[in-house]
Amino acid sequence: MVSLDERLEAVFQEVIRRNPAEAEFHQAVREVLESLGPVLAKRPELVECKVIERICEPERQVIFRVPWQDDTGEIQVNRGFRVQFNSALGPYKGGLRFHPSVYLGIIKFLGFEQIFKNALTGLPIGGGKGGSDFDPKGKSDNEIMRFCQSFMVELHRYVGEYQDVPAGDIGVGGREIGYLFGMYKRITNQYESGVITGKGLGWGGSRVRTEATGYGSVFFAAEMLKVLGQELEGKTCIVSGSGNVAIYTIQKLEQLGAKVIACSDSDGVVYDDAGIDLELLKQVKEVERTRVSAYAERKKGARYVPDGNIWEVPCQVAFPSATQNELNGKDAAALVKNGCIAVAEGANMPTTPDGIRAFLEARVAFGVGKAANAGGVATSGLEMQQNASRDYWTFEHTEARLQQIMRDIHRTVYETAEEYGAPGNYVLGANIAGFLRVADAMLAFGVV
Ligand code: NDP
Repeated sequence: MVSLDERLEAVFQEVIRRNPAEAEFHQAVREVLESLGPVLAKRPELVECKVIERICEPERQVIFRVPWQDDTGEIQVNRGFRVQFNSALGPYKGGLRFHPSVYLGIIKFLGFEQIFKNALTGLPIGGGKGGSDFDPKGKSDNEIMRFCQSFMVELHRYVGEYQDVPAGDIGVGGREIGYLFGMYKRITNQYESGVITGKGLGWGGSRVRTEATGYGSVFFAAEMLKVLGQELEGKTCIVSGSGNVAIYTIQKLEQLGAKVIACSDSDGVVYDDAGIDLELLKQVKEVERTRVSAYAERKKGARYVPDGNIWEVPCQVAFPSATQNELNGKDAAALVKNGCIAVAEGANMPTTPDGIRAFLEARVAFGVGKAANAGGVATSGLEMQQNASRDYWTFEHTEARLQQIMRDIHRTVYETAEEYGAPGNYVLGANIAGFLRVADAMLAFGVV
């Protein structure tokens, strides 16, 4: 008889065998499997019905060609992906990422994480993810539009309000969602608002969706600090990245009286001891679409360090909000040494496994991404609700819903960790709570 831990190891080895050379996907699966030992001990029927094996296998994976013409008339060819991972709880739901590093392994890791994250929101949404190796950097508006249109010509076959509902991610913001939705509407000749989220406010979007991931991770951090008898007001924070998630993390932190003294992009780090000037950052990143170095050039007292390491900046709360594996064991040790007491992951899987271990060993409150950054997809779920009821909610109402969802996620994750004998371990709590919701639905459906 194979013991449960060996059983999970066997599942993992099979995942590696079937998905060779997809390191990020292996990492995401391993992190979840490492939490599931105690669950299988309590729920042997999950082993019998091979629920874990089934969860690790996407329901469907689509890879397609995306040809388009650049401004010089030259033909370019990119690769598009949509991985429809799990629809036990609702239509597949998850963003699209446009970045040159995208390949099947990245989309699968993101899709896998999305299953459990979406389950934690308590909303009826399954897990999926998509994207392309297209690099939006340096492209003209027209090139972005032509690419998005070509991408949707193929993607439209696989998406729909009751089937699969994409949204944004790295490299896909409001502009790209507009071009994608416009083409979907044209091809299908239907105004199917619920087919995509992150839409503009004038055409089916939800208030607070733009801000939701950043605001949500700050709400989650506030809940973790509450458990420690602390609050965000007066805390010194750092936020990596300077995109959608980072900007609205900074905004909410400032609103709550915390000070953000550093942010970054993939070229370097900006340090501003007086506190990041959000209006200037938004001007540089959202309006001019340029680099964070431009911020330091214009802000008195700010410094820019090319290739700097943001995790060496002393802070009390850190928000990794850029990309996967951006914070390793050494970085975690530096944060702990400098007095960091809480980390909320705005990005997906930004902390490496040894980084997570270092935080857990040091008893840092570590808000794993699938819980801490679930506010984005949760508000996408709220956008779908508004679309279905042909309604628009106020900012205040939508933000209150988001905050309540983040509190509920925190409570669920915290209580699950306690129930399984690991108080304060948000990684274990999130993995088990998310997994059980999906697993129970899959059991109810039989072998499908
Ligand atoms: P954006 O494209 O808006 O911004 C990404 C930011 O991260 C940019 O500033 C980018 O800089 C920076 N970045 C990328 N790679 C690195 C790196 N190696 N080092 C430092 N900075 C880097 O994407 P989002 O803000 O939407 O997404 C950020 C993260 O949050 C991703 O992991 C995403 O999956 C996750 N997430 C996003 C959600 C959303 O609602 N948007 C929801 C949940 C999770 P540069 O311009 O140089 O590339």
